[in-house]
Amino acid sequence: MNKALANMPATIQIDGSQGEGGGQILRTALALSMITGQAFELINIRAGRKKPGLMRQHLVCVQASQQISQAYVEGAELHSQRLYFAPQHVQSGKYQFQIGSAGSTTLVLQTLLPALLLQNEASDLTISGGTHNPLAPTADFIEHCFLPALEKLGIKVEFKLNKAGFFPIGAGEIQITIQPWQHRNKLNLLDRSTLQSTEAFAAVLNLSEEAQIAQRELATLNKRLNLDTQQQFYLNGISQGNTMYVKVAYTHHIQLFTALGEMRKSAEQIANHLAEQVKQYINSQAVVDEYLADQLLLPLALGQGGEFTAQCISEHTRTQAAMIEKFIDCEIEFIELDRNLFQVKVNLDNKA
Ligand code: AMP
Repeated sequence: MNKALANMPATIQIDGSQGEGGGQILRTALALSMITGQAFELINIRAGRKKPGLMRQHLVCVQASQQISQAYVEGAELHSQRLYFAPQHVQSGKYQFQIGSAGSTTLVLQTLLPALLLQNEASDLTISGGTHNPLAPTADFIEHCFLPALEKLGIKVEFKLNKAGFFPIGAGEIQITIQPWQHRNKLNLLDRSTLQSTEAFAAVLNLSEEAQIAQRELATLNKRLNLDTQQQFYLNGISQGNTMYVKVAYTHHIQLFTALGEMRKSAEQIANHLAEQVKQYINSQAVVDEYLADQLLLPLALGQGGEFTAQCISEHTRTQAAMIEKFIDCEIEFIELDRNLFQVKVNLDNKA
């Protein structure tokens, strides 16, 4: 190891095969390491996955984190299953990152956002790659669900989808301006209150108009859900793809559910599956869905803490909580209130 690192506080050891075992552990470790200045060593990276080790999109997360925090890094190579990361100081500014594949741009944003929020100056990011990927938040989810939820905590981020990018070509682009987080609010989202509207949106990019994909998806969603509006939206870019989302607005929260078109699955099948997810949510009393639940934990732990109710607590969310507790002095509790209803508490005081 580099001599300059000899005086660093003890390195945090993380086993990447614990819990959910996905890329989330890596991204959260990078985010928390940059925020706390603590170095970490991550072993067994993505050991739970079919193709273990760092994939291209994970490597971009490491390289982007290294760039904004001038970190000393070992093991930042494709397929590497061990990474050592020692950040120096995080520098706000204007950055451009290219994934060079259809790897998810929103997951790179997820990695960098927490550290950049905590700086005194704003940052501008342009990230190119995939914007509508399976197993990641879509750009629409970030724009219409995740960021509006963060606004409640006092976080101000502007987000623009310049170009959509679907697998395998990608070539999408998102542009983000992150303002310094000035007024940190505690979150109290136990009750979503009254349903205001249910809206469906669908788009295709460079697919035959004849197939009427977006129209059929909206028709299916309309049959299954009590929609207030349904609308096709426009995407620009060079890849091919199809996406749709349903926006369910309650007085205290806007929740999005997204789906992507798939080969060998009809527009009706995809839309029916999405409608099922929306129905389950509407029939529950929870404020946030499974995905937003894991994404809210870190911002809460960095702010004033708080609580919310969630539809379910995934293995992802539990792994995320364990990672946060490793780096930050806080306690994250999950209380089962009912079927499909959990209370999540992020306590910063009274740590047991
Ligand atoms: P990982 O599987 O570890 O690479 O992490 C995936 C991340 O993407 C997590 O933060 C999930 O909450 C998020 N995610 C996955 N699927 C969706 C979805 N359908 N909507 C919103 N976020 C998602």
